[in-house]
Amino acid sequence: EQLERLQKVIAKSGVTSRRKAEVLITEGKVTVNGKTVTELGTKVKPSDIIEVEGIPLENPEKVYILFHKPTGVITSVSDDKGRKVVTDFFPGLQLRIFPVGRLDYDTSGLLLLTNDGDFANQMTHPKYKMQKKYVAKLKGFLLREQVKELERGIKLEDGMTAPAKVKVKSQDREKNTTLVEITIYEGRNRQVRRMFAHFGHEVVKLSRIEYGPLTLKGLNAGDARELSPHEVKTLR
Ligand code: URA
Repeated sequence: EQLERLQKVIAKSGVTSRRKAEVLITEGKVTVNGKTVTELGTKVKPSDIIEVEGIPLENPEKVYILFHKPTGVITSVSDDKGRKVVTDFFPGLQLRIFPVGRLDYDTSGLLLLTNDGDFANQMTHPKYKMQKKYVAKLKGFLLREQVKELERGIKLEDGMTAPAKVKVKSQDREKNTTLVEITIYEGRNRQVRRMFAHFGHEVVKLSRIEYGPLTLKGLNAGDARELSPHEVKTLR
């Protein structure tokens, strides 16, 4: 990212002159990403959030991205072990985006990213009951009675699950696996894996294929597209 001197960036935004910006900085009235900066030589990047007397320089444009997350990627903006993270797929973007909720490292599928914190909070709030549909490949056979129990709700260590929809797509007798679609309206940690583990079925493959009205149509793993304003409206 391109670095520029803080006072120049403030002056360019039109709030004040470069000279006055320098005074404001030395007086401790300017913050960069929430921290007060008094050093005049400070360099900033386009994605840094600058506030002058508590007022953001300009509201950054809001962006909403639908991403087909591949497996082997962390749902985070950074990883201390240096593993690949979802924001690595958007190197040129000059906005600080972050994931809406999360998918496991080994889970692929539909993940939203945005720089709109209110939107992200709304989407992940439990009372919102956003519908999420997954396709899972399980070890073993899922029995009819187990499907019914999953649909009614089962007891996990963090409480009863809300009613879900479960549809067995196919069973492979030779490999002893079941392919199943499951729709849930919550987003607890590793929820789908834990729901099947409750019956002793290990999930060997998991992908989120729908999020509310959104699908992965036209996107291969690693691909992304922006949501239209209309799509954003239908979500909130
Ligand atoms: N449920 C899981 O177990 N894992 C995910 O990544 C998403 C839902």
